[in-house]
Amino acid sequence: MTDWVVRPDGGRPEGRGCAHLPQADAAPTPLSAACQECAARGGGGGGLRLCLACGHMGCSDSAPGAHATAHFEATGHPLVRSADPGEAWAWCYVDEVFLQPHGGTPT
Ligand SMILES: [Zn+2]
Ligand SMILES: [Zn+2]
Ligand SMILES: [Zn+2]
Repeated sequence: MTDWVVRPDGGRPEGRGCAHLPQADAAPTPLSAACQECAARGGGGGGLRLCLACGHMGCSDSAPGAHATAHFEATGHPLVRSADPGEAWAWCYVDEVFLQPHGGTPT
């Protein structure tokens, strides 16, 4: 299992951390292949964010629904990772820091 670490270039002052990293699963099993809220409405678009706590798949803030953020607000699950192809980064909504895989890109 790959651990996440706070990204050095996350735009935060030195020492800014994330208290939620011990809860993070680097690769939870996605509950769905796309944003279910959007699929139910026949919509979609934008990037996908995977909740590291439960595997919920939601669309990013660049999509009209922003369901990943809505999922955080509804559940308090703080960590999501990008589910877009070729992207390996995560975000903590609570601490507002970007995370990267520790020691490389997860496969
Ligand atoms: Zn955090
Ligand atoms: Zn959505
Ligand atoms: Zn969740």
